[in-house]
Amino acid sequence: MPSLLPTAGIDETPMIHESSHDNSNGHGVDLRIEALSKRYADALVLDGVDLYIGAGELVALLGPSGSGKTTLLRAIAGLLPIDAGRILFGERDATRLSLRERNVGFVFQNYALFRHMTVAENIAFGLRSRPRRTRPSRAAIAQRVEELLALVQLPELGGRYPDQLSGGQKQRVALARALAIDPHVLLLDEPFGALDAKVRIELRRWLRQLHDQTGQTTVFVTHDQDEAMELADRVAVLRDGRIEQIGTPEQICDAPASAHVFGFIGRAGVLEGHVEAGRFTPAGQHAAFPAEGIGDGPARLHVRPHDLTLAMSGHGLGARVACVRRLADKLCVELQLPGQPHMLELDLGATPGVHPPMVGSEVAVMPLRYRVYPHLPSR
Ligand code: ADP
Repeated sequence: MPSLLPTAGIDETPMIHESSHDNSNGHGVDLRIEALSKRYADALVLDGVDLYIGAGELVALLGPSGSGKTTLLRAIAGLLPIDAGRILFGERDATRLSLRERNVGFVFQNYALFRHMTVAENIAFGLRSRPRRTRPSRAAIAQRVEELLALVQLPELGGRYPDQLSGGQKQRVALARALAIDPHVLLLDEPFGALDAKVRIELRRWLRQLHDQTGQTTVFVTHDQDEAMELADRVAVLRDGRIEQIGTPEQICDAPASAHVFGFIGRAGVLEGHVEAGRFTPAGQHAAFPAEGIGDGPARLHVRPHDLTLAMSGHGLGARVACVRRLADKLCVELQLPGQPHMLELDLGATPGVHPPMVGSEVAVMPLRYRVYPHLPSR
């Protein structure tokens, strides 16, 4: 049906659906991915991924570019063949089901709305395209469109064309279109990636509220850690085609499972050193810090700039102030530590009366919260 294809994402827009089992509660099903692998030529892009997503859960796939997020999402949708593993929607093995049989809703970054159709026609498309025996009546479709327009808070805009909408409105319409078919699972691939920062933040808050209303099983791909943390019930952090950690935003923030996760989810300074008998000593320093559970050997201490504080002289770590930068809401102090290859950053609140230390002065700093990881030079 080439004339009906959208302006972007043409060959991959799964909007013609035929639900083969009842999903009338709109909550979707749980999703189980077992040992899923995908290879492109000689590159293993997904490497035995296991992932469980509960019915009604919103899980973010977070990771740097190239870590395999989109490939995993597309594999769930049935948009590409996999080399090994299983995908179950509820009790049903969906591994060999077609895109159409999986009944997923998909939203892309680049809108992919039909330009020559009104907003209402776009939203109705998936229902109108159903075979006659499962197609709702004209009146039922019109009512569903009205409900969805209200749900995405665009009740007056059904008669407009996509070109008459802002980027944020287009993505709301795309979401309404994806939801129209009561999908088992809603899959969102960087849906706000093309929007400016302010709209992006508004939309992610809106999406979270919408999800609280609909309880739709949702997988959301993003490379933006703030977006993942604010939106998701759980976050899966991907690296090189594997899930390095999965947990609630609090678990990921408070107990990153690896140095990579720690570094990916926020700014971090690193101290080189070693662990001996459960204590970490940074190279070139006298102070030692508890590092329970870490075996003896080379290690690194990771600390966030807001978790470092100025200390009394003679305590903590000795450092020299290399640079002070004033940002909108804080002062950012760069510190050079003897024996350390990298600078450490320390954030100070920029409230009136806070005076930054002088550049070139010697100070003492103390990490209030930190994590120590064994340092494995091969990774
Ligand atoms: P992400 O979404 O995390 O940025 P992708 O899933 O898009 O990552 O890609 C993972 C890896 O697979 C990347 O190295 C990418 O270059 C590769 N890749 C993706 N699609 C293809 C393709 N069609 N052919 C070959 N390699 C691909």
